[in-house]
Amino acid sequence: MTPEFKIAVFQGDGIGPEIMAPTVALLESLAAGSGYTFDFQDYPAGAAHYAKTGESLPAASMDGARAADAILLSAMGLPSIRYDDGTEIAPQIDLRKALTLFAGVRPVTIRPGQPTPLATDKPVDFVLIRESTEGLFYTQGRGEVEADEARETLRITREISEPLFRFAFDLAEARKAAGTGPGKVTCVDKANVFRAFAFFREMFDAEAAKRPGIEADHAYVDATALWMVERPWSFDVMVTENMFGDILSDLGAGLMGGLGLAPSADIGADHAVFQPCHGSAPDIAGQGVANPIAMILSGAMMLEWLAGRHDVPAMAADALRLRRAVDAVVSEGRVLTRDLGGSAGTADVVRAVEEALA
Ligand code: NAD
Repeated sequence: MTPEFKIAVFQGDGIGPEIMAPTVALLESLAAGSGYTFDFQDYPAGAAHYAKTGESLPAASMDGARAADAILLSAMGLPSIRYDDGTEIAPQIDLRKALTLFAGVRPVTIRPGQPTPLATDKPVDFVLIRESTEGLFYTQGRGEVEADEARETLRITREISEPLFRFAFDLAEARKAAGTGPGKVTCVDKANVFRAFAFFREMFDAEAAKRPGIEADHAYVDATALWMVERPWSFDVMVTENMFGDILSDLGAGLMGGLGLAPSADIGADHAVFQPCHGSAPDIAGQGVANPIAMILSGAMMLEWLAGRHDVPAMAADALRLRRAVDAVVSEGRVLTRDLGGSAGTADVVRAVEEALA
């Protein structure tokens, strides 16, 4: 029987639909050649939808996301559209919390020839895992603000941290088996100052003790920021708290030459959302110049995750093909969008990826 996967699609705001359409088309054409099928289903959500209807993430969209095998999301939010308390519409964060997507997976890859602010030819390939449901985001939207004082709470739980560390070590083992990493996990924290991070580290060490084949390493977050610039090739898998991960993942995107190349996945025990790291880029929306690569690579991450979960080797092979096709386009540097110093449009990049696939 042909495996079929239900994919909930959130087209999002700004450049969202411009990068989602070619990604869905690429995934459909890969599936057609490999004996599995997708049922892509669009669900409304986001800032423009809120402006129209007063709802940012309708219950039916949430139900659709819950029922899907995977969720593909472009980017949501528009700075001009806000809730009454002044905060932005961010259903992507609501989804993370509602579906307990604790592992925010952010690969940092610098291919040969890729424009990067680093003065190095050394390839860089590591994965940052950002805990995505608690940490300093725990009181998001519920912080206490008084006349002369404001408070937010950082929360670290065993319930989330233990599966988070299992996930990190599993990933390091998989990368080692595939020959893409040396088999090392670095716990990034601030255990020298905060008790909550000493607790975080203790749980990391307990998991590390069960994984003799993987090197377990520790680093403070401030030093990690320095080392990500000085010697990023020394990392394999790093795992950290939500706010630290939020900041370090943008540093990682900066090392890669920009947000337009940075894919991501938010993964939990039962659900996963795949989306680029960047936002809705309203400044370039509707011009056909958005870089589709981060979205396409997020699609490749979805293929890989579904392949592992449902044991479909053809899908894993397609994930690799798609990633290699993107690697070739970026390394060659002939067809790049403006954010990477080129002048190509979205459609040119998609065509180059299709040609590399062929
Ligand atoms: P942004 O990532 O949208 O844009 C920052 C800069 O990067 C802009 O100059 C933009 O043109 C450029 N850029 C981003 N993606 C690009 C792409 N694919 N191709 C070419 N250039 C690209 O960040 P922002 O301006 O701070 O936020 C805009 C909106 O997006 C805000 O409403 C914000 O809340 C929202 N946002 C959403 C997400 C998400 O959905 N996950 C993430 C970040 C920001």
